[in-house]
Amino acid sequence: MRRKKLVILITAVLLVATVVACAYFYSQSAKSIESITYLDFADMAADGDVKVIYLSDSPSLEGELADGTRFVTENPRSEGFKESMLVLGVKVEEGQRNSAFVSALRMLMIFGILIFSVWAISKLMNKGTASGHKDPADKLSAMQCETVKDAGVVFEDVAGNQEAKESVKDIVDFLKNPEKYARMGARMPRGMIFYGPPGTGKTLLAKAVAGEAGVPYFAFSGSDFVQVYVGVGAARIRDVFKKARDLGRCVIFFDEIDALGKKREGALSGGNDERSQTLNALLTEMSGFNSNEGIIVIAATNRLDVLDEALLRPGRFDRQVEIGLPDINGRLEILKIHSRNKPVSQDIDMKSLAQQTVFFSGAQLESLMNEAAILAAKRGSKLVEKSDIDKAYYTVIAGAEKKDRSAISRSDREITAYHEAGHALVTKLVAPENRVTKVTIIPSTKGVGGFSVSLPPDRMYRRKKEMESSIKIALAGRIAEEIIFGRENVTTGASNDIQKATQIVMALVRQLGMGDSTGMLNYDMLFQNGVANQEQIVEECRTFMDRFYRETSHLLVENKYLLDRIARTLLAEESIDEECLDSILSGERSQASVPAGESIAEEGGEKSAVIA
Ligand code: ADP
Ligand code: MG
Ligand code: ZN
Repeated sequence: MRRKKLVILITAVLLVATVVACAYFYSQSAKSIESITYLDFADMAADGDVKVIYLSDSPSLEGELADGTRFVTENPRSEGFKESMLVLGVKVEEGQRNSAFVSALRMLMIFGILIFSVWAISKLMNKGTASGHKDPADKLSAMQCETVKDAGVVFEDVAGNQEAKESVKDIVDFLKNPEKYARMGARMPRGMIFYGPPGTGKTLLAKAVAGEAGVPYFAFSGSDFVQVYVGVGAARIRDVFKKARDLGRCVIFFDEIDALGKKREGALSGGNDERSQTLNALLTEMSGFNSNEGIIVIAATNRLDVLDEALLRPGRFDRQVEIGLPDINGRLEILKIHSRNKPVSQDIDMKSLAQQTVFFSGAQLESLMNEAAILAAKRGSKLVEKSDIDKAYYTVIAGAEKKDRSAISRSDREITAYHEAGHALVTKLVAPENRVTKVTIIPSTKGVGGFSVSLPPDRMYRRKKEMESSIKIALAGRIAEEIIFGRENVTTGASNDIQKATQIVMALVRQLGMGDSTGMLNYDMLFQNGVANQEQIVEECRTFMDRFYRETSHLLVENKYLLDRIARTLLAEESIDEECLDSILSGERSQASVPAGESIAEEGGEKSAVIA
């Protein structure tokens, strides 16, 4: 609102200036008119000192002396006056010369100029505001106005997410042919929300809806509308809808809708005034248009539960479509889509790659194929080979491999090797249904010392036993360090493992009713209502964790010879795959000799029990 203040200020300055100017002109004209007696006038006229008189019917006579002084005197209004003056060489002009009239005219002119300049300035300022609030409009008319052909995304480009695609098909049909639905009196949703983890194809699907329907697609980010100045965001929203309405059928996409659609705190807290104004503008606009106009608003968010309920009410975003991580078939399809334009070697088995990429999002799979292609191109190869994929896999999970590994001490490398061997071995022992696709002690530039990838099978539910196994797998790294190097030599490398284990135990006890002494209660709810005792939960978690710790320790001590074998192989080869791990465990393979070492840090991995 600084602009408004500026306009007021400028107006005030102009007003003062005008008043001063008027006063000046007025005093000027008032001062210079001298009142003189008729006798003096007659004398001066006789002396030839009068230049001009303005003859009229009014009782006063005005004129100008030769020296420029203006005067006023009695008007004799006698016949022959004009002639007598003319004879004296005075110029006579008929009609009153009214100085008041002239100054009034002047003032009018000045006022005119004033009003014009105020108008011009406010217009200018408005443009300033508007240029801020114009860019979505610009976007609308230019850059973001990708039509089908430009966007070129169709359903075929979106793999997996069968249910999601199914639930937007009628919208596509509606966009193609809104009248058909209007005739039936069907009320179509005005808005849809796509929600799910990042990188799962929400933006892609929104584009595909527009692409399939052949209508323009406008994309904005929620944060485009969160502004410093109150009201600007709201104005932008109105602008977007105005332009969209002018255009007719289209898809408006708001990415990261949570930026402006987060739950509002109590009305009295004040909160973010601007954001709630913007949100209101959006809601108003959405209820404003006729649902059969053929405009569909799609919003995307990672989390539905943080959104203001007002957004989800009927008539707003009343269709909510979940877009989840792809299952194995989805992953296979996505991999196929993103290797379409890449020369991929015959010996890459996409199916097994899909198996190895549990918990990968579409974006990660895309990045996997892309990284691999880059590596292949760098090598100057004609084909993307398995080794490129392996390297890319590592990069996607842990970041780029650290190239200079000479500074890593041998003892650090040994610690890493045993730590990762611990994770891998316990996975094989407690969760044989999991796949251990990769164990490595190659550190990454992100500070990861090494990792072991353990993939639980794709299943709808997680069983209690699986969750317990995940905890044991997470603890195994630290326990292996303890067994081999002694309690006093354990490292910080297990901090992420411990965090992960704690997370699972907490979920078991607090939310899933799987604790032994805590019963089938949701402790989050109890805590909210202030009726539960935190210590009891901590106690239960500890008891659980201690038990898992003991069991895992026993397991590793019993199988220490296997732990040694795996660790030695890791030290020799840096990375091993599942086949190699299996042959070590079955004793087919004996360990190799050992080269030099590295620093330890542990990969957290945001996904449950994948990387340990
Ligand atoms: P989101 O909006 O959910 O964060 P995006 O739509 O931006 O995800 O996805 C990023 C990229 O990942 C896409 O451009 C595409 O290359 C790839 N991708 C994600 N999901 C899929 C999918 N289901 N099918 C094909 N590609 C996908
Ligand atoms: Mg996106
Ligand atoms: Zn670990």
